[in-house]
Amino acid sequence: MQSFVHEAHAVRVVFGAGSFHRLAEEAERLGKRLLVITSPEQETLAKKAASLLGESCACAYPGAVMHVPVDSVDRAMTAIGETDADGLVAIGGGSATGLAKALALRTGLPILAVPTSYAGSEMTPIWGLTENGVKRTGKDLRVLPRIAIYDPDLTHSLPAGLSGVSGLNSIAHCVEGLYSPDANPLVSIMAEEGIRALARSLPVIVRDPSNSAARAEALYGAWLGGTVLGMVGMALHHKLCHTLGGTFNLPHAQTHAVILPHAVAYNAAAAPEAMARTARALGVSDAAAGLAGLLRQVSPVTSLEEIGMPEDGIPRAVELAMANPYYNPAPLEADRLETLLRRAFAGAPPGATIE
Ligand code: NAD
Repeated sequence: MQSFVHEAHAVRVVFGAGSFHRLAEEAERLGKRLLVITSPEQETLAKKAASLLGESCACAYPGAVMHVPVDSVDRAMTAIGETDADGLVAIGGGSATGLAKALALRTGLPILAVPTSYAGSEMTPIWGLTENGVKRTGKDLRVLPRIAIYDPDLTHSLPAGLSGVSGLNSIAHCVEGLYSPDANPLVSIMAEEGIRALARSLPVIVRDPSNSAARAEALYGAWLGGTVLGMVGMALHHKLCHTLGGTFNLPHAQTHAVILPHAVAYNAAAAPEAMARTARALGVSDAAAGLAGLLRQVSPVTSLEEIGMPEDGIPRAVELAMANPYYNPAPLEADRLETLLRRAFAGAPPGATIE
């Protein structure tokens, strides 16, 4: 067995249908004047949380915006100042958790996260901030939530298509965790189990978004995916998605969903054990083909073109993906990356011949 280092993160996880109703008792561990953060679309949940928290809710703040623009953080800082908040409750997808993390980075306030998508940010010490059109990310343990409440009931309202792409975003954390340079046996068990849980539940959710058992299984998979992302480094897939999202303002989960089969095909020959484990978890013989099949089954979009990527942006994306060397199992080669992106642009199968 190879040597490894494993460092677990101390997040208290409360999982189960109906667990949102334990918000007040869990929040007591955090503070007495809590700022409740959601996106504007999920303001109703902020109000529900405010009523559960009673006097310990300092303010319901529905001001979270995708990719955490710096002015959204400045505005929320004013709300913290006005209410003298001593803790942050983030309810929603990665954008709500992202705003709470940016605030924690500035103030050191503790976070309780209630995820309602499968992005997994609640389990990581990774923050992101967008300024002048450029998204910066970093790692800081101050932004790692102290508590995460996973209530599958809150995910029933996540539309079928968004559930599919969000789940594939989480599978991407697991797959890249399997071939990470700092992978270890425990992380690999979690990653394989995460892929299995999501691959089994997402097709059911897309057919029947209110299927409670599938919703619980997918959220369990998302917890595992987030844990993997928080513990080990990622590679080409995450780097490409970050570049495409930032440069062409593409939607986060959809970009991950479309790129994943292609990034996996790119790395297949260089990471045979990770491929075998991914394929086993998907119940197929070839990991990239299995992921392409899952994409077609659960996602309303299968190409970069459909999500707003300009075709003439491909050379620039290749250039950016080649800049600042980073770990990847297969060497980074501009012509192979260009083929990868052209296939993803067209929504072609991972191994397809592209003119
Ligand atoms: P999101 O948070 O922007 O949510 C997308 C939309 O879905 C929003 O309108 C939101 O209100 C809505 N939504 C979420 N849950 C819902 C529900 N249950 N019912 C109805 N609507 C719901 O998107 P996301 O994919 O969850 O997160 C993406 C963001 O998170 C990106 O900015 C990404 O960079 C970040 N992220 C960060 C990490 C990390 O570790 N720091 C990890 C993953 C993602």
